[in-house]
Amino acid sequence: MNPKYRINRDFHTHTIYSDGHNTIEDNVLEAIKMGLKTIAITDHGWAHNYYGIKLADLKKMREEIDRLNAKYEDIQILLGIEANILSSDGTIEVDSTNRHLLDVVIAGYHFGSKSKFFFKDYFTHFINLIHRFSGLFERKAIEINTAYLVNAMKKNNIFILTHPGDKGPVDIYQVAKVAKQQNVLLEVNVRHNHLTKEQLIEIKDIGNKFIISSDAHYSKDVAKVDDCIQRVIEAGIDLSRVVNLEEAIGN
Ligand SMILES: [Zn+2]
Ligand SMILES: [Zn+2]
Repeated sequence: MNPKYRINRDFHTHTIYSDGHNTIEDNVLEAIKMGLKTIAITDHGWAHNYYGIKLADLKKMREEIDRLNAKYEDIQILLGIEANILSSDGTIEVDSTNRHLLDVVIAGYHFGSKSKFFFKDYFTHFINLIHRFSGLFERKAIEINTAYLVNAMKKNNIFILTHPGDKGPVDIYQVAKVAKQQNVLLEVNVRHNHLTKEQLIEIKDIGNKFIISSDAHYSKDVAKVDDCIQRVIEAGIDLSRVVNLEEAIGN
């Protein structure tokens, strides 16, 4: 572990309800072990073709988390969702019929998410996959992906924009400007390497607030984010702008 800094809240973790490998309670027990004050369970939203939760499970997850909050008094357990940004108009799958069950909504773009406009949105996945493997269509991919993220932040009440630029290139300067306006936290994600050090340096002067997440898919990975702490330090970001970072006790 980084001897000087640690996170005290982890707002991005997955469980067996989506593509994680452990239960909600496993994540909570690891969070307690790591001394966290808060953990959010943020499985993939249901508008994903392969690994989203079943919408029908949302109530069950809510009940389970309410029960665990009563059982473990020293930690706050939140139910969230990692929503899929589905289209360039910023649509996500969370709406007024299910939002009340959730404490937080975090959102990102993912390959394999369902489409709002069939051809247009599958074309986005196609462009991003081609770009990933060949480097082609860079400008087009940036234009589309930036619209996805920017409009999602304008249209929805999103707490954290997850791993911006990871699944397809974005204009991070534009994204960060809108995140600042809309009060959305930009994520430094240990699993996906975004935001990268280079992105952090590029947007340093905009004045965003950041959050570091484990994006744990195994409970053992909850709150293990040393690489991200290192990345933020190397980018020269004032650490007071990382909302869940604190100095490690005893150092
Ligand atoms: Zn994600
Ligand atoms: Zn995730």
